[in-house]
Amino acid sequence: TMSSGSEDALPRRAHAVLIPQPAQGHVTPMLHLAKALHARGFHVTYVNSEYNHRRLLRSRGPASLAGADGFRFEAVPDGLPPSDNDDVTQDIAALCLSTTEHSAAPFRDLLARLNATTGCPPVTCVIADGVMSFAQRVAEDMGILALVFWTTSACGFMGYLHFAELIRRGYVPLKDESDLTNGYLDTEIDWIQGMPGIRLKDIPSFIRTTDRDDVMLNFDGGEAQNARKARGVILNTYDALEQGVVDALRREFPRVFTVGPLAAFAAHAGGELDAIGGNLWKEDTSCLRWLDAQQRPGSVVYVNFGSITVMSAAQLAEFAWGLAASGRPFLWVIRPDLVSGENAMVPEEFIVKTKERGVLASWCPQELVLSHPSVGLFLTHCGWNSTLESICAGVPMLCWPFFAEQPTNCHYVCAKWGIGMEIDGDVRREEVARLVREAMDGDSGKAMRVKAMAWKERAREAVEKGGSSRKNLDRLVQFLITGNA
Ligand code: UDP
Repeated sequence: TMSSGSEDALPRRAHAVLIPQPAQGHVTPMLHLAKALHARGFHVTYVNSEYNHRRLLRSRGPASLAGADGFRFEAVPDGLPPSDNDDVTQDIAALCLSTTEHSAAPFRDLLARLNATTGCPPVTCVIADGVMSFAQRVAEDMGILALVFWTTSACGFMGYLHFAELIRRGYVPLKDESDLTNGYLDTEIDWIQGMPGIRLKDIPSFIRTTDRDDVMLNFDGGEAQNARKARGVILNTYDALEQGVVDALRREFPRVFTVGPLAAFAAHAGGELDAIGGNLWKEDTSCLRWLDAQQRPGSVVYVNFGSITVMSAAQLAEFAWGLAASGRPFLWVIRPDLVSGENAMVPEEFIVKTKERGVLASWCPQELVLSHPSVGLFLTHCGWNSTLESICAGVPMLCWPFFAEQPTNCHYVCAKWGIGMEIDGDVRREEVARLVREAMDGDSGKAMRVKAMAWKERAREAVEKGGSSRKNLDRLVQFLITGNA
């Protein structure tokens, strides 16, 4: 744990400005990094979008954005037109384009204003989200040290880095739509360093397009190349977990700071910061009491598809009836905008049938849920934060990747780390029920639990004194202060 003694020793002279992409899976790890830097003596300015700033005010109250000594919140516009519902996940492609176009000038103004403010040290470094590279450029134009933080897994980042080469070699774009289903995506790629056995289907999903001008293919591919121009790249992973990929990245990039799981460095950093949290939805904590009341440890299936996943009402019904047929207790978080189109509700009959052993919630404190002793399995979309949180809690996964680098994470979870099983994209209730039972009571479940505990242990070692992530965080702090590492 970080003592307040070491904080006192450092006058807050270094000033770090951190700007995440304004989406849940980026806001949270960037906040963890911000808290970790604050605990090590940095003055911190954390920059939200105005839209998310308002959402955080609603979900967490003004106290959470009041900041603390040496920790301030600011906001810049995201450039998107105002929406009639102010509490929904924004369209990611639109967000990527509009922040790039509209947030740079306000960000520049903000840095200038911070530099002119008395009572806070001038800005010494900017940590820009890997998909907000405009912030890196703005900082560098002003002569400020800038690093990028890719909030993905290392394997996901490696995938994005190879979009350009996949295009150059003619794998992407797809020739036509049938390539999505004719086995083409099973093609093995043997020339990506550190990723032996990777298939096209394991590469971040934005390559699954027939359109060379596809927004996300070009945006994420381009942002990954921009990372090459940064002085350093920060990743929320630990070396032992992704050793081969991290080694390969280190051969290509001058500085790779693998500092995960960052949550470990942010927790209990010191009283006043604990009120600061980054959940954009209001947390429903009653599910924790329900978990307390469960009799058997490891008996509950926790189901959550994160902040962006959208499914059809038919898919929702398959998951529902699969869970019902599994016979296991479950906690299922259904975000208000999880389901597209009409009938965006779980079947009424399902609720009646499972009310003895199932609860539904709208948004939960996920890290607390995953570390609750009653939880034994996580049915997840394999977002990187969810995956890492599951690893830290030692909980095996059933994987239903939705998009972006989630298929990459799923591949590593199932095939490399041995802590998960994949549900077919075309989800069927029988398969859900079978895999839940197999993961809870079968031999593969037993094997996954043993491995999950081992990866949890290695994550703990990585952040302890002498551990790889702890050392890398020290190196990062040194680099941010001195420009040398
Ligand atoms: N999360 C949460 N409560 C919920 C759902 C999600 O606290 O009910 C958090 C979760 O712990 C994780 C983040 O939201 O930190 C989701 O990020 P992830 O990368 O897993 O997926 P994304 O939302 O970006 O698809």
